[in-house]
Amino acid sequence: MIPILDSKRQYAKIGAEVEKAVCEVLRSGSYILGPNCKALEVELAKYIGCNYTVTLNSGTDALHLALRALDIGAGDEVITTAFTFVATTEAIGIVGATPVFADIDADTFNIDPKKIEEKITPKTKAIIPVHLYGQPCDMDAIMDIAKRHNLYVIEDCCQAIGAKYKGQMVGTFGDIGCYSFYPTKNLGGMGDGGLITVNSENLKNRIIALRNHGGAVRYYHDEIGVNSRLDEIQAAILRVKLNYIDEWNSLRREHAKTYNELFAGCEDIITPHELDNTYCVYHQYTVKIPNRDNIHKMLQEAGIGAMLYYPVPLHLQKVHAHLGWTKGMLPNTEKDTECVISLPMFPELTLEEQKTVASTLINCIEKSKALA
Ligand SMILES: *Cc1c(COP(=O)(O)O)cnc(C)c1O
Repeated sequence: MIPILDSKRQYAKIGAEVEKAVCEVLRSGSYILGPNCKALEVELAKYIGCNYTVTLNSGTDALHLALRALDIGAGDEVITTAFTFVATTEAIGIVGATPVFADIDADTFNIDPKKIEEKITPKTKAIIPVHLYGQPCDMDAIMDIAKRHNLYVIEDCCQAIGAKYKGQMVGTFGDIGCYSFYPTKNLGGMGDGGLITVNSENLKNRIIALRNHGGAVRYYHDEIGVNSRLDEIQAAILRVKLNYIDEWNSLRREHAKTYNELFAGCEDIITPHELDNTYCVYHQYTVKIPNRDNIHKMLQEAGIGAMLYYPVPLHLQKVHAHLGWTKGMLPNTEKDTECVISLPMFPELTLEEQKTVASTLINCIEKSKALA
């Protein structure tokens, strides 16, 4: 059995350090928004290269509070991709705004800047590009559109911590960057967690207030906020793990290169396409194959933990049915939804395992062709 992700292998390596950090928190008596949260916010601002970060309860809250902080709500439209996890559009729905979908680029899985402009209306307030699978979006093109039309940009970096576009980390191009520390992410906690990156001091202060019941001063409340604080145990764990993120991301990149080599010459397997000048952090290694559903089943039977991210694009989800999107409106998104499959990818993955994954996938494709 080769899983898509094996968190236990990571723990075997860093467990002692993590346990020490957690025990210190337990003994400290300070459990919410304490010194570890503060330190983590400073360390992450330095790592990502922005003025401020604010720790939160989840990536979903990061997106939600980013929209709140920019005063986006009822009557507003936000342009984003339908090829993402539901939290991206859920956050838009939570604030009462309407997601408007632009199709993805045929090669990169990410929003196609050329498709954004035609979706802009007088109601459009923001663009949310999603750096899917750890692959940076074309930020020059997106920022250019945003500037020309006076739109905010909120980057969904939940799968892309450490990814770079032209040498600059994602999350620092737009007005706000949103990150998740969900355990399976490249920098994952041992529970839920999230983060916002921001350069504006005003926005930072607004988000700090929103995460703690809408007030900067305790027991004085200026607006409806939420409880979205990160706890000290998670912050302490994340501080330990932050020391390894570059090493882990570079191992993911090596594994991606190995997969690419193992699949070279297989016409049926389309390997991921990186934009020039990007540093992709391979949250997922996702290929396009024919006969995907059959092959997914065959892989599972063969003990390969391949997964489908995501089986239904967001414009065709029941939650958004009232918006009136139908099949055929986002052809590239719909096409990729039917042929993508994500293969085992995590820093501790071995070469032997990668070879097994590759040969099994190639065999499954041959078998399914013989049956057809
Ligand atoms: C994980 C994820 C989120 C949500 O993060 P949570 O911490 O699980 O709330 C949002 N967007 C994308 C693209 C994600 O992968």
